[in-house]
Formats: sequence, C-alpha cells, structure tokens
Amino acid sequence: MTMKVCVIGAGAAGLAVARHLASNPELFDFVVWEKSDTIGGQWNYTEDVSSKDGVHSSLYSNMTTNIPKEVMGFPGYPFHTEGSSFIHHTEVQNYLINFVDHFSLKKYINFGYKVCEVKPIKDELSDAVKWNVSVMKIGCKTVETDQYDNVIICNGRYTNPYIPDILGMETFKGDIIHSHYYRKNVSYVDKNVVCLGRGPSGLDISLEIGQVAKKVFISHNKSNLESPLPDNICQITGITRMNENSITFNDGQTFQVDSVVLCTGYMFDFAFLHKDCKIKIQENRVTPLFKHFINIEHPSLAFLGVPFTVCPFPFYDTQAKYYIKYLEGKADLPSKEEMYADEAKDFSVRLESGLPVRHAHFMSTRQWGYHDDIYQLGSMSGTAVSKVLRLLYDYIHQTRVKDLANYKKLSYVVEGDTFKLKN
Ligand code: FAD
Repeated sequence: MTMKVCVIGAGAAGLAVARHLASNPELFDFVVWEKSDTIGGQWNYTEDVSSKDGVHSSLYSNMTTNIPKEVMGFPGYPFHTEGSSFIHHTEVQNYLINFVDHFSLKKYINFGYKVCEVKPIKDELSDAVKWNVSVMKIGCKTVETDQYDNVIICNGRYTNPYIPDILGMETFKGDIIHSHYYRKNVSYVDKNVVCLGRGPSGLDISLEIGQVAKKVFISHNKSNLESPLPDNICQITGITRMNENSITFNDGQTFQVDSVVLCTGYMFDFAFLHKDCKIKIQENRVTPLFKHFINIEHPSLAFLGVPFTVCPFPFYDTQAKYYIKYLEGKADLPSKEEMYADEAKDFSVRLESGLPVRHAHFMSTRQWGYHDDIYQLGSMSGTAVSKVLRLLYDYIHQTRVKDLANYKKLSYVVEGDTFKLKN
C-alpha cells in the first residue's frame, strides 16, 4: 500500500523532503505544490517587488551568502569547490536547479499552484486522520481538493514582514520600506538612512547602502557590534518616534533622515491551516511542535524550517530524513505526553537563558546538538554536518562578528578533518 504525501513549497526545504521521499517510490506517492513557476523559493530572485500576487523572495540584487558554500550544501551533494566561499545568490539558485535534475525531482512538482487550505478529517473506515489539501491554480479561481495521509509544510519563513508599530510613522515624509522589498542601493545616494534592526540582513543592507549614502544609522537596542564599521555608518539606539523629516532615538538624539529600511524580521504565515490543525502562533512561536517540527496533536502534519539562525540546507535534511524514517515505520515518535514535556522543557530552558518568546525557535550554537538529538532519535548513522564543517561554520561566525565588512573576502578549503584559508 502506498502513502500519499503532500509537500507544500519547492524551496530548499521542500526539495530536501522530495529527495528522501523519492528514494522510496514503493511506499510514497507524493506531490509538491509550488505557487511560483520555478524552484528555489528565496533563491528565486525577483527584481520586481510590485507584483499583485505578492513577493516571495527577500534577496537583493548583489546579495552573496553569509555561510561558506563548503558548509551550506545538502549532505552528499556539495557545492562546486572553485572560487570564493561566499557566493552570489544566482549560484545557489543554480545549485538547487542542478539538485532537482540530479535527483530527478521535477516530475513531482506542480508549479503555479497555491495551497489555500489544509484541513484534517477523520477517515471513516480507519479512524485515522487524513488531510484535505485545497489548491488554486495561479490566475484561476477554481479550487481543487485532494486527500493525503501526510502533509509536510515547507512554505518558508522570510516572506511575511514584521512591521513594528512606531510612534509618528504615518507622519514621516521620507520613504520607508521593509528589507523584504530592498533590492538595490541606487535610491539611497547621498541620503541619510536609518536601518532599523541589526540582524544579518540589517547589517548586510546597512553596509551596502553605506557605499552610496551620506550617512547610515544602524538603530537597535542590542549590545553594540564589535566590528569596525565604515566612517559613514554608526550605531544608535532604537527609535522613540518618527517626525516629518527626522527621527528621535531612545537616547534622546534627533537626526534629519531621508529614508528608513525596516530590517525587523518576519512573522510565520500559515494562513492556509484550518483551525482543526491545532497549530497556534503566539509571538512568532509555533506550537505544539515536537523538536520544532512535528505537530504533536497530529504527527502526520510536519513543518520544515521553523528554526532560525541555522545552516539551513543540512538542517532541513536532518528533519526530512528523520520524519521520512518515521513515516516508513523505521523510527518511533515518543508518546504525546513525552513530546509535550520535551517541547515545554526546550521552551523553558530558552526563557531561563533570557531569550524572549519570539526566539522560541532560535538555534545558533544549539543547532549542532539538535542534529545529534534527531540522529539519535531516528537511530540514524553519521551526521548531516561533520565536525570540521561545524568548526568552520562557528569560525566564520567569529570572523563576521569581528569584521563585518571584510569577512567574506577570505575563502576556505576543507581537507579531511581540518579547514584552511584558500590561497
Ligand atoms: P523558501 O525558500 O522560502 O521556499 C518556500 C517555497 O514555498 C517557495 O518556493 C514558495 O513559493 C512556496 N510556497 C509558499 N507558500 C505556498 C503556498 N501556499 N502554496 C504553494 N507554495 C507555497 N541560507 C543559507 O543557507 N545561506 C545564506 O547565505 C542565506 N542568506 C539569506 C539571506 C536572506 C536575505 C534571506 C531572507 C535568507 C537567507 N538564507 C540563507 C535562508 C534561506 O531562506 C534558506 O537557505 C532557504 O532557502 C529557505 O528555504 P525554505 O524552503 O524553508 O523556504
């Protein structure tokens, strides 16, 4: 008997799932629904940000990766070894296109279909939960519904911008965009610009705008960056209020400002989930999820890619491998009570360490232990990220912190158990 599986999204996460599902064609009869007309998700760069259907990708024109390609690839399918460690986004898109060809995945993907509802229903014969998934062809209003045994959601986490509520924002006469819509620095020539937020995109965009702007203020309430910054870029506290042509910051200073880029992150968007899926989002925490990805109430519904500050492709591979092993009946899930206890413990450890609720899925150095836990749970041998690649990833993090403007100028080679600078 086959198992019908629905995958939502043909970005890196959906492709990781498709690769492993495709390796067991006797068991899995699966389909990937993808709303755009090509693969790649975020890496499918869109120059035009005015589409009435919405903009999926947040990548900007000159964006290069902030993780070295030596670490970034899927296990068993590395990036090419030539050239720089930090590559232009088009190379990543090409890598994903080649990945799809290599594993013959295209035949499973239905492009141009947007999933509009996922709803659990009780199968009358077996009493098991099945899933009604409704899709709409882009450009048409007709909805088709099909039934599946499992649904794996891989719709991405960087598409629904978080817009903070700032006093006086409506009175500000300059331009304000969210970083989701930032593409090039040309409109910032000789301007005074505030980039609000100092996450990876905020810093990258600040540096890029700083190449042409008169002044860039990186506004944030975190501890100050250790890295030296170009002379026309400075750090300042968060925003108290926006005025017509200026901004007042939390430290009381007010500066004339022409433009603001809100690098304030993203909110999860699972609008297509029927309430019976029993998934709640509170302060950007998705719950109840075992190990940040399996719906504890309905384990036949999983979400890949919820955690952030991870090395994404290997992370998705680990989640996909374990989940598919579970579907194959080769790995067990703990009891419902144990999964709830595990989720609660994970969350309370985060809160105790001072993280806010919205960082419930923040990983950073926790990601390596996560891989190990999942491999152990699934009795899987090996690892998605070897020791040397973990070391390289952590080392790059340190070089980034120390010298934001220059860390991508160095490249690395991995040889056996060590890595070294490339000549
Ligand atoms: P996405 O790539 O977002 O894919 C989701 C897919 O689902 C899309 O194709 C979308 O069209 C589809 N979809 C969504 N909703 C529906 C629906 N209702 N119906 C049908 N289809 C749907 N990662 C790195 O490894 N290295 C980096 O250097 C790096 N830099 C980044 C820089 C920026 C600015 C950003 C925003 C992200 C960066 N990332 C980086 C993270 C990147 O997002 C991940 O690498 C990865 O591409 C995410 O894959 P995903 O499949 O989870 O989501």
